[in-house]
This record gives sequence, structure tokens and C-alpha cells, in this order.
Amino acid sequence: MARAKENLRTGLSRKELNKAFEDHLIYTLGRLPEVATPFDYYQAAAYVTRDRMMDRWIHSARTAKHQQARTVCYLSAEFLLGPHLGNNLLNLGILDQVRESAADQNVDFEAILAEEVEPGLGNGGLGRLAACYMDSLATLRIPAIGYGIRYEFGMFEQVIRDGWQVEKSDNWLRNGNPWELQRPKLRFPVRFGGHTESYQDDQGRYRVRWVPEEVVVGVAYDTPILGYGGKHANMLRLWKAEACETFDFQAFNVGDYYQAVEAQMAAENLTKVLYPNDEPEVGKELRLRQQYFFVSCALQDMLRIHTLISGDLTDFHAKFTVQLNDTHPAIAVAELMRLLLDDHGMGWEQAWDITRRTFAYTNHTLLPEALETWPVELFERLLPRLLEIIYEINRRFLDEVRIHFIDDPERVRRLSLIDEDGGRRIRMANLACVGSYAINGVARLHTELLKSTVLKDFHDLWPEKFSNKTNGVSPRRFLALSNPALAGLLDEAVEGDWRYDLDRLRQLEALADDAAFQERWQAAQDAAKAGLARLIARRVGVTVDPASLFDVQVKRIHEYKRQHLNVLHVLTLYHRLKHDPGLDLVPRTFIFGGKAAPGYHMAKLIIKLINAVAEVVNHDPDVAGRLKVVFFPNFNVSSAQHIYPAADLSEQISTAGMEASGTGNMKFMLNGALTIGTLDGANVEIREEAGPDNFFLFGLTVEQLGQLRAAGYRPWECWRDDPELGAVLDLIDSGLFSHGDRELFKPITDSLRHCDPFFLMADYRTYVDTQNEVSHAFGDRRHWRRMSILNTARVGKFSSDRAIREYCEDIWKVSPLEGQR
Ligand SMILES: *Cc1c(COP(=O)(O)O)cnc(C)c1O
Repeated sequence: MARAKENLRTGLSRKELNKAFEDHLIYTLGRLPEVATPFDYYQAAAYVTRDRMMDRWIHSARTAKHQQARTVCYLSAEFLLGPHLGNNLLNLGILDQVRESAADQNVDFEAILAEEVEPGLGNGGLGRLAACYMDSLATLRIPAIGYGIRYEFGMFEQVIRDGWQVEKSDNWLRNGNPWELQRPKLRFPVRFGGHTESYQDDQGRYRVRWVPEEVVVGVAYDTPILGYGGKHANMLRLWKAEACETFDFQAFNVGDYYQAVEAQMAAENLTKVLYPNDEPEVGKELRLRQQYFFVSCALQDMLRIHTLISGDLTDFHAKFTVQLNDTHPAIAVAELMRLLLDDHGMGWEQAWDITRRTFAYTNHTLLPEALETWPVELFERLLPRLLEIIYEINRRFLDEVRIHFIDDPERVRRLSLIDEDGGRRIRMANLACVGSYAINGVARLHTELLKSTVLKDFHDLWPEKFSNKTNGVSPRRFLALSNPALAGLLDEAVEGDWRYDLDRLRQLEALADDAAFQERWQAAQDAAKAGLARLIARRVGVTVDPASLFDVQVKRIHEYKRQHLNVLHVLTLYHRLKHDPGLDLVPRTFIFGGKAAPGYHMAKLIIKLINAVAEVVNHDPDVAGRLKVVFFPNFNVSSAQHIYPAADLSEQISTAGMEASGTGNMKFMLNGALTIGTLDGANVEIREEAGPDNFFLFGLTVEQLGQLRAAGYRPWECWRDDPELGAVLDLIDSGLFSHGDRELFKPITDSLRHCDPFFLMADYRTYVDTQNEVSHAFGDRRHWRRMSILNTARVGKFSSDRAIREYCEDIWKVSPLEGQR
């Protein structure tokens, strides 16, 4: 279908853009152009961009409807989108043009981009993955809807006070949000509490009615997601909770006005705040409410759309497929059953058949303690009808299982949706597995471990359901947008648009040893490093030397990710320099960034330790010019876009078997950083693609750690046998980094000395020795540049486009829309 002729709302010529910009400034924002601020400019630019995206979305939606395509629904409790403006201009193909136009008019374009407050609707990797997948779905022209929650407060803002993390609430909607459209008429009721009643319908069939205690309404807010090339747009539909008016009036009628107002406030609390995902204590009722709320709204919306188009629910699964991003939306399995049974009068067999052909489940964790479960008692109180349905799914499922495993009651207990040990709990991963036609892990190693450990029983039952889908990242946001110097060089050196087809970067292999190209490669890296150095000076007040090795670890702070292993290396170098001031050492700048869950004390203490070490090291004249340590506060997508491009070395040092995939590792590789890493998550595949000579490997493997655990791990033997390690631990305990306080960091050093659940002591020596190799390699500039170029050249596999293509072909069975524009 051809789009209509261009006009002021759709055109991309300079004239049309300028006129549209002026129009929005005056008519949408009511500002005099001569007194407009950078924020007004940002808003006007956002509206100009959104108009063009809406136009393309309407066109895409029409085409999808016309072609009766199957729609992919991506259900995720988190979408960590990052700032929109730059990315959308890039995808429309007018980023450079707008940048030049701003320069011509003496407008600071970077300052305008910086006016945008990013929507921090995610914790880290999982939410960012959802955002990269939305980008790739639109770029590949796959009709898709992202469904999630419009948290009023997203991820907290991290500030550092006296070296400690302090959390400030993220009021990201304070200045409005020009990217979204409220759909006040698109609202669905969601029930909570109360009881169920059975009755016979007019055909004499057994039916159940859920009489809730409370009804909350979900209202849709839509954000268009434009693909690269500007040809196709999808929708991200986020739900906000509102009070249900009818219920207010009930209270009002009996005269209790304040109770009605309270009920309204309680309803709106539902989507108030995003929960941190890695807090040790879980099981918060509000979190379960959030999950059920957005899942119910999403499924009601799909049924509405399907009814508009076809009116016949029996082929729902042919028109929709629903991907569950981890178990947070797994309650969808029971909710779709409820909607089909109770609201649409379908029989169990047919409803179950449709449900099992609709869902697919992505697992994101191997840690058994991180697998989500909810107390049965909580379900009984909050979602009584859902509990009945889960019991019935389980009863039928276990009957089926017992036939296969007559002599194995233990296995039946493990497969059950209900954990009967201790307090009875519902296992959300089991619900997701039973209700899905496909199950996948997020890196090859992770999927293999899933099949042999946490989901082994399900793999024994249904091996054909399992597949691997290694994660990927968007080359648009994380290279084209965030590293303009390198992107420019790639455009000159590589034929074809690598933004569409990242495998084209293979052409760089031929240039890896070319001296002239190496110089230009270095110049691009220097530009990114100088940019980050300026940002660090501004935000942290520390001066760093862009010529030093930028050694970077940015990600959530967690013991399994082992930021404290990195700290032990910093202290090893510090200790060596103090004892041998003449030591020949490649100057390094250690850059850390990441948030700790507010209730995770050990992680917060690790942040304090990093800052305490920075304080001492950065002020010690004995190591001046050789070591610097920086903690970059409030790591989020905006800062990520400055940090990944500026790294020489990427720290991917988690305990083997604990990081499902990682995606930060891919963003570093994309930008030419070399990785020091363990054989964990996608590191395995990164090393395979880059080649073992272009990757710094260290550490025990999953198998070796298993043997060590079985034999009885004794961390104290490691530090007793390694004087350097012993000295470094003593240094922390000495109080040098805590103004003489010998107790402050004890929780860290005691844990390392005596139990060390993440095996830092076991991996320390090979880590430090491998870091020595890194230093030597960095000293040989030509060799280093060659390795850097080869990393970028071989990153193709880690594009989110490749990942989404695999989901489309192997799981969803969908293909791109035909014949667009
Ligand atoms: C990519 C990304 C992550 C994930 O990083 P990992 O190193 O894979 O844990 C987290 N936060 C942000 C802001 C990111 O961009």
C-alpha cells in the first residue's frame, strides 16, 4: 500500500521539517520562538518526530491488517528504552541532516538531546533486551506489540554521597512525555480478591463466576517504535492503573467519600513504582498485582483486536503469539484460560489447546533461588479464580505425567506447578513451561544448563519444545547513534549498510593489519575516550587520561558479577606500585558503574569499597599518572551510550554458570573493546566468534566449579598459598580505605576468606595473571588495534536482528510484511 503524498506532518525535507518545528513550538507548546529554551526545542523536535512515526505506524497497521499477518506480542514487566529522540531521528534517516541544520542555526544539538529524561522502566539487561527486540521487530517489519507497565516512577536515580549509594525517586513524567499517546477509551477492568461461585449456564454447562472484592481499570498509553529505515513502526502499549468509577460511587452513595478517595489512591498505587529485580527478599504482594494487572489488560486487548478482525476465537493462536519475557508475565497462561472459559464461554479442552499454542517462554536465570514462586495463600486471597484454574491445569498435567513415569513419584513432585515443601507455593516457571509451545534460554551455555539442571524434568518430557536463542543488541542505538566517529569510519570502509546487516562488518578483517586504517581506527577510539573523559570530569570531578587503558565494568552490582574481583586487581596493582615505584606499568583507568538493589547490603558495600579505593588511589602521588579509579554514578541507557564506545577493555568476569547471557559484553565488542572474561553466558560465543587469540580468557569452568564444590571448597587455602592475595585482603582490613575503621569492609573480606560462594579466591590468580597479559598486549599498539578491529569485524552474530530472525523462524513462524513502501 502506498502512503499518501508528503505534507507538514510526514515530510522529511529540510523545508517541511523546519516549518513543522516552528508550528509545534507555537501551536502545540505555545512558545514564542525568540524566547524558546533548549527544553522547548527538545519538545518541538519530539512532536515533529512523533508525527512522522504515527504516519508510518498507521501505514504499518493497515498493511498488517490487510495481509492478516500473525502478530507477535512481547510481554515484559520491563522495557528499558533509553532516550527516544536521537534514535528515532536516526531511524527516520534524518539524524545527520537535523544535526547540520541545528549547527547552521547555531543551536547546540547535543544539549537538546540531553534535555530528554530517559524512561527508566527496567532494571538492567532483561528490560534492555526487550527494548532491543522491539527495535529489531520494527526494523525487520514484523507486526508486533510490546505490552508492559507504565510505571510512574521508574528505576531510582543513583547518587553517591560519601561513597555510598543513595536512591532518589525517578519522577520521569514530571515534564510530560511527548512520545506517548494516552488512549482514554482503551481501558479494561482487572479484578482482585473476593470469591468464586459456580452456576449452570443456559445450556446446562458448569460455569464459574468470579465475584471480586476490588476492580482496577487499566488505561493504555502507546509509544510508537520505529524501525531503522523508517519503513515500519510497531506499538509499545503500557498500562496505567486507575480506580474503577462504579466502585467509587458505591462508597460515595453510602456516604463515605474519603473511603472512595482512598480506594482511588490504592488503585493508582498499582503502577506507581518499578521493583528492583535482584533484591534478596521477594514475594511482595504489590508485585504480583502488577504482574497480573498488565497481563490481564494485554490479553483482553488481544482478544478485542482479534474480535474486531475475525469474530471467531477458535483461531486466536493463528493470529497472535505471545512471548513471555521470563516468568513475570507467566500468569498469562492461567489468565487466557480464564478469559476463554469464563468470559467467552469456551470449553476447557478447546481453551487449553488454544492457550498451549499461543505462548512461548524465555528463561533468564539458572539460580534456583531466583526462580519465581508465589505462596498459594496469596493467590487464594488475591486471585482466587486463577488459583482454581492453576489447580485444574496441574491436575490434568500430573495425570498425564504419571502415565509416563509410573515408578517415579519424586519426578511428579518436581514437575508439579505447586511446591508442596514447607509453605505451599506456585512455581511460575513450571506454569510457563506447561502452558507454552516453546521454551528457550538466552545463550548456548545457558540453554544447555537449563536442559540439564533447573528445567531438566521438562526437557525429559518435551525435548522438542526447547531451543536456544542467544541474545543480541541493536547496532543502531549502540553503535550508529552512540559512536558517531566509529560509525563514520565504518561507512567509509564497509560496503552496504551495516546498520541493517551487521555481518557486513566482516569486510573489516581485510583491514585489520592496514597501518593507515589502524590509525583511523585509533582516532575514532580516541574521540570516544576523550568524550567520556570530559563527561567524567563533569559528573565525577576526576581527571582521567584518555591515553591510558580504559578498563570498564558497567552493569548491575551483584556478587555473582564480581565487581569485587575487579577491585582486588586494582588493589594488586596499587600494592605492587607502592612496593616498587619504578615498576613499568601500562597506565590504567578503571571505570565502574551500576546500581545496587536498595535492599542488597553487600552490593551497596561493594559500591562504597570502590569509591573508598578511588579516594585513596586517585590522591596518592606515588601512583599518579598510572592508576585512576572512577565510579560513574547512575548508570543508565543515556550514560551507557557514552561509556561502551570509550572502553578498551570489557570486564565480563561473572562466576561461570551464573550469568545467563549478558548483553553488555556484546555492546563492548561492537565498539571494538577486547574482553577479559570467564566461560560464562554469551562470553563463550563471543570468544568463539572473535577467535581465542582476540579474547582474554581466565577462570574455572562450570565443570571445574562443580568438581570443586563436590570436593569441598576451602577458600582460605587460596589466600594462604598466595601471599599477594593475602596482602591485598589485609590491605582492605587494615582500615586504609576506611579512615582507620577496620570493621567497615569486614562483611566483604570475611565472606571471601571463609565461604566465598562466588569463587573469587579460586579465580584470583588466573585473573590477575591474565590482566598482566592484557597490559602487555596494550603496550603493543599495532597488535592491540588489530585485535580491536577483529572484534568489531566479527560481532555480526550479536545483532538483535539475528536473534529476532531466529525467534521468527524457529518459534513464532512469522515473516516480514510484504511490499512496504
Ligand atoms: C546492556 C545494559 C545492561 C546489561 O549489562 P550486562 O553487562 O549484560 O549485565 C544493563 N544496564 C544497561 C543500562 C544496559 O545498557
